Amino acid sequence: MTTYGFLGLGIMGSAMARNLVQAGFDVIVWNRSAEKSEPLVATGARLGATPRDVVAASEVTFSMVADPIATRSVCFDTYGVLAGVGPGHDYVETSTIDDPTSVEIARAVADLGGRFLEAPVTGTKKPAEDGQLVFLAAGDRGLFDDAQPAFDAMGKLAVYLGEVGNGARMKLVINSIMGGVMAALAEGLALAEKGGLEPATVLELLDAGVVANQLFRAKGPQLLERSYPASFPLKHMQKDLRLALALGESVGQPLHGTATVNQTFKRAVVAGRGDEDFSAVYEVIR
Ligand code: NAP
Repeated sequence: MTTYGFLGLGIMGSAMARNLVQAGFDVIVWNRSAEKSEPLVATGARLGATPRDVVAASEVTFSMVADPIATRSVCFDTYGVLAGVGPGHDYVETSTIDDPTSVEIARAVADLGGRFLEAPVTGTKKPAEDGQLVFLAAGDRGLFDDAQPAFDAMGKLAVYLGEVGNGARMKLVINSIMGGVMAALAEGLALAEKGGLEPATVLELLDAGVVANQLFRAKGPQLLERSYPASFPLKHMQKDLRLALALGESVGQPLHGTATVNQTFKRAVVAGRGDEDFSAVYEVIR
């Protein structure tokens, strides 16, 4: 039986690791804050003491942590991934990070004889729980093929996008669009409210028209109720917008809209909304 490692048991990682356990794999987990491992261990996962130990005991280890700082720590710290990686001990980075960080880790893993894949995901808490994520994979093609049983347990689709960096960039492009769409919805509903219109009617009419989409259907009711339980934490959306702007800088693409949207999300983080769902951006807009 394949042994999979899993590092990072936040909203996404805990659901993904649970699906690996439920699919019958031998799973070893680690999280910086140890208490988040307990529910996974209760469902049959084994506990690893450090990322190094997890990687050394697993054929393929997945990581799902907050941002590039967290990823760097998990990989490069003394008892990190790189201390355990090598032939037969491969690494898949599923966190949303920037492509230069991903390329740096890919090189370090390859230098040690391991295989590397970046595979950031689209889909949020519920799709993660339901095994319905989409993996945007890039890097070692053989590892992509070998990891397919794990992708099948955690997702509905894994696409292979070629060389390392393409998956990271694809994810940032998608989330820069999603951030803009959310900001537009929040501004529109705020305008409706101040203009004496019923926001619920705005949502109904949006849903009947050409811009109807799943995001409006999922998040619209949260804006009406002004309740934002975190599915995709706002601080992570702001991180993705910041990374998308850096990507724009590196390739010479002006991103006027994304720059403005980023400032709005940053204002929401400063206002203490970072741990709420990204739909809470409505609170600083209205
Ligand atoms: P989350 O619930 O905030 O979990 C973050 C995880 O990162 C926790 O396990 C946390 O450990 C760990 N972490 C943070 N800083 C760390 C550090 N310095 N060293 C080691 N571990 C660290 O976030 P999430 O929603 O699961 O998101 C995880 C990643 O997936 C992010 O890159 C996010 O952008 C991406 N993503 C999220 C969604 C979504 O809808 N939520 C969808 C697609 C992609 P502790 O428990 O110790 O804090």
